[in-house]
Amino acid sequence: MCNERLDTPRVLRCVAGFTGRIAPLLLLSLQFPARAACLSSPDAGIRAMQTLAHREPADAVRRIQAAIHSEMTAPQPNAPKIAALYAVLADANEALELDGAARSAASEGLKYAVRADESVRMNLLAALAANIYDVQGLKDATAMIETARATVPSGSITDVCLQITLGNLQYRQDRDDLATFNLTSAYRISDKAGWSSQRVLAAEGLSHALRNSGDFEQSLSLNQEVIDWSDARNLSLDLSVALYLRGEIFRAMRDYPAAIAAYEKARRISEDIGDQQGIAFSDLRSCQVQTEINQWNPARIRCESALRVFSASQSKDVLKEARTLLARIDLAQNRPARALQTLNEVLDHQGSDMPPRQVAMLFEQRARTLAALGRFEEAFRDLDEYARRNAKEAGAERVKQTAVLRARFETDRQVERNASLQNQLDLAKERVHRQTDQLRWTVTAILAGACVILLMAYILFTGQRHKRQLVDLAGHDGLTGLPNRRRSVEVATAALESAEEQHRPVAIALIDLDHFKLINDRHGHAAGDNVLKEFARVGRESLRATDFLGRWGGEEFIVVLSDMTLDIAMTSIERLRTAALQIKLPVKGDEALHVSFSAGLATNESGIRTLDDIIAQADVALYEAKSNGRDLVKIAEASFDSASTGVRRALRRTSRTGTGAPPVSSAS
Ligand code: GH3
Ligand code: MG
Ligand code: MG
Repeated sequence: MCNERLDTPRVLRCVAGFTGRIAPLLLLSLQFPARAACLSSPDAGIRAMQTLAHREPADAVRRIQAAIHSEMTAPQPNAPKIAALYAVLADANEALELDGAARSAASEGLKYAVRADESVRMNLLAALAANIYDVQGLKDATAMIETARATVPSGSITDVCLQITLGNLQYRQDRDDLATFNLTSAYRISDKAGWSSQRVLAAEGLSHALRNSGDFEQSLSLNQEVIDWSDARNLSLDLSVALYLRGEIFRAMRDYPAAIAAYEKARRISEDIGDQQGIAFSDLRSCQVQTEINQWNPARIRCESALRVFSASQSKDVLKEARTLLARIDLAQNRPARALQTLNEVLDHQGSDMPPRQVAMLFEQRARTLAALGRFEEAFRDLDEYARRNAKEAGAERVKQTAVLRARFETDRQVERNASLQNQLDLAKERVHRQTDQLRWTVTAILAGACVILLMAYILFTGQRHKRQLVDLAGHDGLTGLPNRRRSVEVATAALESAEEQHRPVAIALIDLDHFKLINDRHGHAAGDNVLKEFARVGRESLRATDFLGRWGGEEFIVVLSDMTLDIAMTSIERLRTAALQIKLPVKGDEALHVSFSAGLATNESGIRTLDDIIAQADVALYEAKSNGRDLVKIAEASFDSASTGVRRALRRTSRTGTGAPPVSSAS
């Protein structure tokens, strides 16, 4: 109860409402109503008692005490059952605001709980913790719960129940920051099917802590959860407490009409269940809110009504609160002397039995009262005292608010950290995907590049080859494989120029196969082709490697004989002529196909400078050879003329032909 120890944190809660600040107030049983135990018993009989403890606590106490008595006097007392009954007894006493009885029931129960199941032990611990009010007792209870938590699996239902008890203990020790952290955690964890009673317990504790932090929206929403839950289960006491606490949230929000409405609802339920203490608390708060909106007479009625109950129950702290409010009403209604008398009585210990912030406000109120009485010197002293205490309290409040903010930040950060971890995981996955994609694309690009390079190389290579082939084709004759006329012109020109430069002889012969048309006609074009090919082969064999044989066109050929005097050239062509005569190609019907040629030979030694001229001379000589019966080699006239006497003589010896010379017969 609030009056049990005036200098305890619980009392601070009880009377903080004075300060005008959010004021988590009053009766611990109201702030932390025992309601259903966090862990319900597996025993149906015990569960029924647990429910009764919250509907008809006085009746429940009688029944439970009887049950304990009969169990203890049984031939074989069931210790776990006795422990469970004590846990419910503690709850029922707590609901009746009989803290001492609740505490001793819990302590007694723990003696029998050695073999009891976990839920019983945890409920006893929680009941004990909820009914301790002195500073050291709260510290011990906190340590006890923390130790118990270390023995249960993290995140288990038992752990959640212990965490809720811990959070509530921290709240009562004015550690809203720690309370917020633990209750938020418990609230989040208990978001599971079948954990609704744990969730609602966490919601209730968290609603207080968040109201103190000024997070009214969240506080109201959590409070609504408690209201709905209690209403659905017909838990009248819990419902009236939840409605009362809703009024507290609205009061903190300065929404006074809403606060009064909530207190009225709570009061009606308290009346229904005959809860005098509950009625008195609703009255006290209604009075307080009405003074805020200057409804002095209704306020006085409520405060005087509460005063009667608190005087009877010796609830000293709330009694002082009611008296302070009455003093305020007296001052407002122009009764300063009576107000001063009340305030002096409230401040009988200079506030050492009250929370500091409330005391500061009392000095301020007394200063105004003294001023109203014209006792200005004393009024200034009180005002100084108020300023001094208020500054100190404001600083402490700031520190506390900062700690709460930090705790909320810490909770949010944990949530965010999980989200951020998930985010990082997603990012990493995405990065791996991207890298895989990139790798795939890189490989594809490399392969594609390689293909392009190969293709280009191929194109280039085949192009080169093609080009070479084209060049070859351009310079060679497809049938015989000999250089063609164009190439022959180039070679002959170059040879002529080179010979000119070096003053060396070069001879050129034009060869024309005899009666070739007849071969084609008689034996077919293919046979003619074979003759051409065979002549080319024989020609290449017969001539020196340095001699040049080209196809001049049709059945005509050109021979370029560099560094060769006319007589030697004549010998070479003659040797070729003889070789050609050896050609024997098999043809149908005939035994063999023979071939001969006529040739005209010309040399630069005659002073000729151009290929055209030398070809022309050779051509004339060739014509003469044809005219002279074919199978002949004729030397161009100018060439013969220019030859030295020795050469001419030699020519006459080696050649059957020659311009002006006796014709050399072509042997067949
Ligand atoms: P001549 O002794 O007076 O040179 O008589 P000829 O028949 O050899 O001369 P002509 O100019 O009347 O005929 C040449 C023939 O050569 C005509 C042509 O059909 C043939 N000829 C030209 N080129 C080729 C070829 O590549 N293959 C074949 N089979 N015949 C060819
Ligand atoms: Mg011809
Ligand atoms: Mg011919």
